Amino acid sequence: MTTRHLLLLPGDGIGPEVMGGARAVIDWFNARGAGFSFEEDLVGGCAYDAHGKAISDATMTRALAADAVLLASVGGPKWDDVPYEARPEAGLLRLRKDLGLFANLRPAICYPALADSSSLKRELVEGLDILILRELTGGVYFGEPKEIRDLGNGQKRAIDTQVYDTYEIERIAAAAFELARTRRNKVTSMEKRNVMKSGVLWREVVTDVHKRSYSDVELDHMLADAGGMQLVRAPKQFDVIVTDNLFGDMLSDVAAMLTGSLGMLPSASLGAADQKTGRRKALYEPVHGSAPDIAGKGIANPIAMIASFGMALRYSFDMVPEADLLDGAIAATLDRGLRTADIWSEGATRVGTTEMTTAVIAELDRASG
Ligand code: NAD
Repeated sequence: MTTRHLLLLPGDGIGPEVMGGARAVIDWFNARGAGFSFEEDLVGGCAYDAHGKAISDATMTRALAADAVLLASVGGPKWDDVPYEARPEAGLLRLRKDLGLFANLRPAICYPALADSSSLKRELVEGLDILILRELTGGVYFGEPKEIRDLGNGQKRAIDTQVYDTYEIERIAAAAFELARTRRNKVTSMEKRNVMKSGVLWREVVTDVHKRSYSDVELDHMLADAGGMQLVRAPKQFDVIVTDNLFGDMLSDVAAMLTGSLGMLPSASLGAADQKTGRRKALYEPVHGSAPDIAGKGIANPIAMIASFGMALRYSFDMVPEADLLDGAIAATLDRGLRTADIWSEGATRVGTTEMTTAVIAELDRASG
């Protein structure tokens, strides 16, 4: 019997407010027999206040045992001066590291109702649905040596090391092809093979993985700088983009902004598949932070958090029709003209966190008869 056990980590700032939105949606699915169980715990500044650490060992144990972790956001000015190792973001980094989350998925979806709030023309972004897959645990952010050396002549030398082993590229490439098979069956791999050895190996390994196991999927290669240009020139040409940690960091932010506000953007981070169950360790979280400027006011947009739960339905629980139902309910809510302050425009109805959540639930009710 497969379990559906979630660990919810609301965190700091607007985190608990937007997590309330996800909980309401979980309750809605449970009322229809989905059978999710969940527990809540602390991460970030609130965990520091309680335990002196951004995440306790007990919470980490719960995260490792859960089928999926849902996190809202961490941080805020209250913790600006805590020791570096205990800063709120350290909780996030430990989760990513200890769960072995090497694949970061960021969908860039443009809801028709919001197409005019993109910085690109409506026809370029309307109906956009692409997925950026970023390698998350290797590359230049982690490679050694990583240091600033004093050269002793009044000069210093800063060194970061871009390093990838075959297995790291193989597993992210395989994840990209698997994801593409559930979508429009196309992968674009981006690197800089013209100037970087890691780019040469990246292309070689992606090509091998493709030839060996995924030749039914269409594969293109693109230099990452040209890829950035194409992403703003004609974003709808892409389906799944797979790239390394550094390029993925930048390209996923570019892609995200094609579609409007931070309050709309979900993400997923996945680890290796379990040998027995096939289920991957997984963390789902909105792209936005704790928004201290609006925390406690009841005006935060809960959609990124709710859509992050939607990604959990899709990628951890194989509940694709339910995930489609939830995405449809979000789109229908926006079609009705309801907007939180971050996405509000002339003529729309301004609502708060609770009203937006209630409206999404009402659309779920409507769509499921
Ligand atoms: P932020 O994402 O918290 O906020 C940026 C702007 O977007 C703010 O004006 C905010 O009000 C708005 N915004 C963000 N989410 C929103 C939502 N759901 N609804 C409406 N408006 C929203 O980024 P920041 O201000 O640079 O950082 C604030 C704190 O969050 C810092 O402590 C930072 O370290 C932390 N942070 C955490 C994460 C995370 O938990 N993954 C990510 C980024 C930043």
